[in-house]
Amino acid sequence: MPPLSDTLIEKFKAVVGISGVITAPADQEPFVEEERGLYRGVCDAVILPATTEQVSQVVTICSENNLPITPQGGNTGLCGGAVAHGGIILSLKRMNKILNIDPLNQTMTVESGVILASIQAAAEDTGFLFPLSLGAEGSCLIGGNLATNAGGVNVLRYGNSRELVLGLEVVLADGRIWNGLRGLRKDNTGYDLKHLFMGSEGTLGIITKAVLKLFPYPKTKETALLALPGLDEAAQIFSASKENMGDSLSAFELISHTALSLTTKHISGIKAPFENVHAQYVLIEFTSPQEGSNLRDSVEAFLGGIFEQGLAEDGVIAESQSQALDLWRLRESIPEAQKIEGGSIKHDVSVPVSSIIDFLTKATNLVEAEMPGIRVCSFGHFGDGNIHFNLTQPKDMDRHAFMDQWNHFNRLIHDLVNSMGGSFSAEHGIGQLKVGELEKYKDPVELELMKTIKKSLDPMMILNPGKIIRNIQ
Ligand SMILES: Cc1cc2nc3c(=O)[nH]c(=O)nc-3n(C[C@H](O)[C@H](O)[C@H](O)COP(=O)(O)OP(=O)(O)OC[C@H]3O[C@@H](n4cnc5c(N)ncnc54)[C@H](O)[C@@H]3O)c2cc1C
Repeated sequence: MPPLSDTLIEKFKAVVGISGVITAPADQEPFVEEERGLYRGVCDAVILPATTEQVSQVVTICSENNLPITPQGGNTGLCGGAVAHGGIILSLKRMNKILNIDPLNQTMTVESGVILASIQAAAEDTGFLFPLSLGAEGSCLIGGNLATNAGGVNVLRYGNSRELVLGLEVVLADGRIWNGLRGLRKDNTGYDLKHLFMGSEGTLGIITKAVLKLFPYPKTKETALLALPGLDEAAQIFSASKENMGDSLSAFELISHTALSLTTKHISGIKAPFENVHAQYVLIEFTSPQEGSNLRDSVEAFLGGIFEQGLAEDGVIAESQSQALDLWRLRESIPEAQKIEGGSIKHDVSVPVSSIIDFLTKATNLVEAEMPGIRVCSFGHFGDGNIHFNLTQPKDMDRHAFMDQWNHFNRLIHDLVNSMGGSFSAEHGIGQLKVGELEKYKDPVELELMKTIKKSLDPMMILNPGKIIRNIQ
């Protein structure tokens, strides 16, 4: 594709101002670099609009000139969705205003460029919780979260991103603005279009504003880490937690011994929480919206029962907020620790919760038989059936030789997941990384329907080309 003409650059500058158009390669660096180093982006210009109207005008110019647009939030996505291959990167960073908080309706209206952590903080300041929470929350933007339908650690209690949204404003591929910015909890007036755009990773429209659901801020919180002899016990404790603790159960994370040992080895400030080695660990969080509730007593009684039944070998309940954060840090640092340890081949998969043990057992046998010495570093959102089945290279193997096996191991694991009725991408999306997997595993009728939708909303395929849908024929 030829570079952008000066005339087009001037047109963009006229819309967003001189500082809103970045053409110097050195200044484009943060927008073309990608978290995992799997891809490197290329673009003619980074355009930073400050209002929905500016987004609309920029998209109109692109549409008139058949110019590809890669929408970008915080650029923290894990599937290369925000990595451009020519055309413009449309960064939403400047659209960073919180527009309204409605305490009675329990909603917050935001522009799509607000950092997730700022939304959480603004909610907390007014006594509310915005429950979306994930490792990248200090840098990802809400538009990116919604465009990827991000999951995170509180899905068990509050649902995925799409369940936290009442309304959206979206700029379409021809520049029109769809105003669906409604704060309604009931609205059965035909197709619910907002769900088309959430999870579409910028391939159907550009999310510019959202009405988000807020929840009462939990006044009490108890966080516990339990050490278990095996996976069966994790399943039994999960089932018992749901039965006995009801809605107070807000997170239930599984951490394998390998995952925990890598964090204590590599991440400074993280100490081994237990003296002995155990096969699995679960990090459980319970919350209550009531001040002075007897949550602590209930949790202690519940965990006492767990120990009496011999389901856990050791355990710790956080005595302070900072101890709770330390326990979460242990969980959130696993990917960083894996990176330091060497090559890792990743699988973000889901199966029905009732099939997790079966999956983990079969998948572990499969990969260990394939490559002796490979280390299964599994962890994830057990309560959602979502396991990050990550493989760390054998200790003495060359990193590159191991990473060359990425597709081979993906095939083994994704075939297994598919045979169990699961998903090869539970929460990270498709981007460009998993386009081939989508074509292989998606039901053909479903894939046809997806292409039909793409064709009708973006017939010129200028919105994030090469992501999710490669062609519409
Ligand atoms: C340390 C770490 C931990 C993570 N943990 C989790 C986790 O627990 N759960 C989980 O689900 N994900 C997780 N992720 C990945 C997660 O999807 C992203 O971090 C986040 O949701 C993406 O937001 P972003 O603003 O960075 O989007 P980007 O990376 O900038 O973009 C992601 C996709 O959305 C599109 N997009 C961005 N903004 C818009 C917009 N306004 N309109 C239309 N399309 C847009 C882009 O084109 C791209 O396809 C993690 C990532 C990291 C680095």
